[in-house]
Amino acid sequence: MTWEREDGAALDPEAAGEWLLRYDEFVPQDEGLREALCTLGNGYFATRGAAPESTCDEIHYPGTYVAGLYNRRVTQVDGTAVETESIVNVPNWLPLTFCIDGGAWFELGDVDLLDYSQVLDLRRATLHRRLRMQDSSGRVTRVEQRRFVSMANPHVAGLETVLCAENWSGSLTIRSGIDGRTTNAGVARYDQFDARHLTDVTTHEIDNDTIALSARTNQSDVTIAQAVRTRVMRGERSISPLRLVSEETGTTAHHMSLDVDALESITIEKIVTVFTSRDRSISEPLIDACSWSERIGTFGELLNAHVLEWDGLWKRFSLEFKGDGNETRLALHLHIFHLLQTTSRNSIDLDVGIPARGFQGEAYRGHVFWDELFIFPYLNLHLPELVRSLILYRYRRLPEARWAAKQVGLRGAMYPWQSGSNGREEAQTVHLNPLSGRWLPDASHLQRHINVAIAYNVWQHFQMTGDIDFISTYGAEMIFEISRFWGSLARFDPALDRYEIVGVMGPDEYHDGYVGASVPGLSNNSYTNGMVVWVLCRALELVRILPEPRRSELRARMSLDDAELAHWEDVSRKMRVVFHEDGVISQFEGYEDLAELDWKAYEARYGDISRLDRILEGEHDTPNAYKASKQADVLMLFYLLSNDELRAIFERLGYPYTADTTQRSIDYYLQRTSHGSTLSRVVHSWVLARSDRERSWEFFEAALLSDLDDAQGGTTREGVHLGAMASTVDLLQRCYLGIETRDDAIWFNPHLPAEVESLELDIRYRQRWMTLTVADGQFAVEISDWGEGVVRVGLDGEVVELRPGQRRQLSLSTSSSKIGAKGP
Ligand code: BGC
Repeated sequence: MTWEREDGAALDPEAAGEWLLRYDEFVPQDEGLREALCTLGNGYFATRGAAPESTCDEIHYPGTYVAGLYNRRVTQVDGTAVETESIVNVPNWLPLTFCIDGGAWFELGDVDLLDYSQVLDLRRATLHRRLRMQDSSGRVTRVEQRRFVSMANPHVAGLETVLCAENWSGSLTIRSGIDGRTTNAGVARYDQFDARHLTDVTTHEIDNDTIALSARTNQSDVTIAQAVRTRVMRGERSISPLRLVSEETGTTAHHMSLDVDALESITIEKIVTVFTSRDRSISEPLIDACSWSERIGTFGELLNAHVLEWDGLWKRFSLEFKGDGNETRLALHLHIFHLLQTTSRNSIDLDVGIPARGFQGEAYRGHVFWDELFIFPYLNLHLPELVRSLILYRYRRLPEARWAAKQVGLRGAMYPWQSGSNGREEAQTVHLNPLSGRWLPDASHLQRHINVAIAYNVWQHFQMTGDIDFISTYGAEMIFEISRFWGSLARFDPALDRYEIVGVMGPDEYHDGYVGASVPGLSNNSYTNGMVVWVLCRALELVRILPEPRRSELRARMSLDDAELAHWEDVSRKMRVVFHEDGVISQFEGYEDLAELDWKAYEARYGDISRLDRILEGEHDTPNAYKASKQADVLMLFYLLSNDELRAIFERLGYPYTADTTQRSIDYYLQRTSHGSTLSRVVHSWVLARSDRERSWEFFEAALLSDLDDAQGGTTREGVHLGAMASTVDLLQRCYLGIETRDDAIWFNPHLPAEVESLELDIRYRQRWMTLTVADGQFAVEISDWGEGVVRVGLDGEVVELRPGQRRQLSLSTSSSKIGAKGP
């Protein structure tokens, strides 16, 4: 891959290599990865960067997903009926191909490719493809395509194709259609599951330019309609070629035939409108798809509006970074880009969460995990309205979470590890180890720490926005219900005079139980227990600060009496945390007694051992037996909480806590982690940022390449890793700039790796924008001159009040040692 400047007129002339993801040849085995990385979306729907002429086969996987559109199927797996819910691969609107003189339809595999390039323009969110091909009769045709999924109009996407007959003249037939035969076939591991989600696929002839297709999901009963308008131009002039509609079961297409002369260019504009019965302010999906298809403008007009919208987005999410070459900047832009493909202003009000793997593929079936914990802090500082809406996705699912807690004899709300349509638990009950071919029980739903993540997200949003109305109306109820859940799960052991949490899993998915135990689950996972204390403290704080009458209303509604508050207080002071003999925080009770893994031997034998769980199971062994973690677990404490916060928690619990505790725990787990999750490197980079800048930067760089280089060897084609994507950018932003919110102020404590020469970004904090700059050994914060009132900014140990337009500077060489640091 290269990232030179593209000089073609079709691309943004301003865009330098750091904005272009460019491929200069067609490599069949890489196509799945490219399709994922070249996905275009707008928060409402997204389409993988598949070739328009392709269909689902061993090389290509066209996929289009509408946010929040799920469907369930029941499949017999290994003798058991398993119900799975998946984000639905809706009908493919891309199909476009052509043939010359009635010959074969163009397909990449059947022709000689003379030139080929594909460029994703991140700034304008357009995907470009150029190729020259020669068919078996020696005819050379040039194909240039560009497409967008409109950020300006969430229901619209466009594909423009220019065909040039380089050395031939004759009859050209273009086929432009919609394929409703799509199934969910994007992840090989899910092959055995029923993947047919669409039924009642119906085609419609609308007018001379437009055909449409509608379908219904066979369980969730959502109607999807797409109308495709195809127009043809000879040079600049619109023409009306002879058109026929061809319909096969589940597909429809326009066939348009015309004569072309050598060196003549024909332009085909294909515009799709997409609606579903989940949409608001519509009449019926097909009616709206067709009426908007007729009303909306040309490809050029729609593209302009789309680019303008992206212009605004990039200003909001701007990140000027100098140092360490174009690759770093390209990766950072790509990460912000993919986050915004998946969730954007268009997602606000849609009742959706962020799927861990985006809409770039079907891994984890579009489910929403704790990964939002790695994403919201970044979004909070740029588009807090969006985070508010994403939190409401969880709020609406409180009744389901309450029900789930009740089913296992607990109180409060127990949110699911994997969430989809209605918020019931969607985690799989069995999973396939592709190495051994065995189906295995899956206990990942025991990751109850998802409830910590949701409470943390609510609190963070409150800190960043100061939005007391939002937390009063929605957030507080969630935090109280989650606290009630933890309060009922914690068991008091009188002998220890401590509360314990048993039968759970921590973030490290290699450990789901004790070897030989009849039921899965671990005792006293330190991350969970420590964070539960934090959650309970926030709940108690909320009880104090909630304005009346909301506080009384909520307490009455939830029957939240003084005795329960006293119980939370008690649990938050007597929670058990297990330490190793040498003072290292134990991942869970009993971790210290597990065997050491011979990492070198496994590396020598298997090379990449990031999925050690699969390797060990393949050997009829289990990771439960070893001190080996898939990802950061204990270290998550240092990722989420500042040193001061952690010290306060340990002191509250009556445990010793020194800087040494932190450093030794980091060193200990660093040596015992395989980074089998892309989230792991980000956390390691974060916790090392203050003590070992070089190592931190190495982890940061590795995390940056997770998807760009498909570092997990084949997972990116199944969807990008949005948690890692957002949190790498957040590392530059919050971690290296040392951003913290406390005492009603936003604090900065910059500590940048040597590789960062300069950095400039705009953030939004409590309704105000501010520009942060690091350059020439100086850090500066400047409040935008729009608005009124002061912003409380913490710098170099003191809080200053800055007014609109005011700026404060700090010399980095003299300050960093004075201020309380986040992390070790
Ligand atoms: C990780 C989880 C993560 C999930 C979805 C898994 O591999 O272990 O922590 O939530 O992927 O990204």
